[in-house]
Amino acid sequence: MSDTLQFGDYAVTRLVDGTFEAPLDLVVHAGGAQPRALALQAWGKDTIRIDVNCFLLQGPDGLTLVDAGTGSAWGPGLGHARTALAERAIAPDRIDRVLVTHLHGDHILGLLEGAQAFLPRAEILVPETDLAFYADGSRAQSLPEGQRGAFAATASLRAAYGERLRPIPDGPVMPGIEAIPLHGHSPGHTGYLVQGARHGLLLWADTLHLDDLQPGEPEIGLAFDVDPALAVETRRAALRRAAQEGWTVSGGHVGGFFSVEPQGQAWRMVAL
Ligand SMILES: [Zn+2]
Repeated sequence: MSDTLQFGDYAVTRLVDGTFEAPLDLVVHAGGAQPRALALQAWGKDTIRIDVNCFLLQGPDGLTLVDAGTGSAWGPGLGHARTALAERAIAPDRIDRVLVTHLHGDHILGLLEGAQAFLPRAEILVPETDLAFYADGSRAQSLPEGQRGAFAATASLRAAYGERLRPIPDGPVMPGIEAIPLHGHSPGHTGYLVQGARHGLLLWADTLHLDDLQPGEPEIGLAFDVDPALAVETRRAALRRAAQEGWTVSGGHVGGFFSVEPQGQAWRMVAL
């Protein structure tokens, strides 16, 4: 499954890598147990079921991916982004570069096949703050066990791509595309803003995971947020700015392309 929209010089396609299912235990609330229970009751779902997405950008500079899915690392239920590329007759050697949003496994393991680089030519551009954090294995002990896999994935990625992996700062990364810091979900978590003729597209990665719950209550997060308080702040700021600027948004786990509208003290996401 995929859908394509045009923003400026880029045709942007959402590639669905698969579906991730998890128990509600992963849901956290900055306000504690009581608001969490109320919010989940009102939401009414008994499990988390979210897409895992990456994006293909076709533009004047060739083929760019934003993130790369899970490849073969998370079993046959995922990894379908590779199939989606193959169906478009896009072989791995045609990908020119990958803009990485952050170094969590579901965004970068698709860049690897075992210990090898899956993309033979591509440059891998990684937000410098995330790279500095996850390249330092001594920090792993400071995180809960469920968040430590990113250190091993980062080490494998660096070994496989060598000089082709480069840290990037915030700001312009290529014509019409800007790296936007959205720290919190991970230390250097970054979105990519694609300029459009009228409105831009913000690919905001894991700024939020539950598009029908967190916009209305940004205090809700998932246990994967490395700095939960900062993630709440970033979530609010990103929703506010997207609504103000009229940006289209999509990301690593939402179910399509959306606009963001104010609703009461918070926001809602409206599927395009
Ligand atoms: Zn993710």
